Amino acid sequence: MIKPWEGAMTPFRIYGDVYFVGTVPASAHLIDTGEGLILLDTGYPHTLYLVLEGIRRLGFDPFDLKILLLSHGHYDHLGAAKALREYTGVKTYIGAPDVPYADGTLDLTWARELGYVYNEAFTPDVPLHDGDAITLGRISIRCISTPGHTPGCMSYFFENAGKRFGMHGGVGVNSMAQDFLMRYGLSFDCRQEFLEGLERVRKEPVDILLGNHVGNNDEQTRYLRLIAGDADAFVDPTAWGRFLDRSRDRLLAQIESEK
Ligand SMILES: [Zn+2]
Repeated sequence: MIKPWEGAMTPFRIYGDVYFVGTVPASAHLIDTGEGLILLDTGYPHTLYLVLEGIRRLGFDPFDLKILLLSHGHYDHLGAAKALREYTGVKTYIGAPDVPYADGTLDLTWARELGYVYNEAFTPDVPLHDGDAITLGRISIRCISTPGHTPGCMSYFFENAGKRFGMHGGVGVNSMAQDFLMRYGLSFDCRQEFLEGLERVRKEPVDILLGNHVGNNDEQTRYLRLIAGDADAFVDPTAWGRFLDRSRDRLLAQIESEK
């Protein structure tokens, strides 16, 4: 388990009004809507101070946060949501099926598997459903349900500065592995739902992929290109399809390995 500061990353502008404020273990993205800030995921509870510091280093005020959109109900993405809401008053949004994860009704936040205890239960302000749209200032975000990794995994799509941004709600095979599903008595249907979800979002045109983990989109390599002067380092319309293919292949390999 690395110490929070060992996973620190320099915050930076990805493109347009979209910024990276996360850490190596878990991404967090900031969107400046002109009428307040949107945060996509919080990361772990113990790295919240790094996210807040990142927001300030970019010249923004955490107290301008209006909307916290959570990709799904796992500890590494929503772990700091309760603290952030109490501190800033931000409204919290999550895919409806993951509300019982967030509020502690179900012990499925993956906290134990990650070596922690989930002591951050909170009731999300807004449960999201497939097809919902969230508008703030110049940003309008479309929500597409992509269950599998968790039942409430929500993918987000929006346009800004002439580019189309996309983030998948969660692709890790860990929570679709046989031993995990059996340990918690969960249905194996999540695997088929995951594959169907990948197909559903495949037709979305995405110029800039936002990963909810560093590595989903070669963030560190692209960051080096960006600071070397390539303003389009994150613009790559082929990255989305490749990412979805990789995610599908990982699950298929996992299933194959269990035979
Ligand atoms: Zn997860």
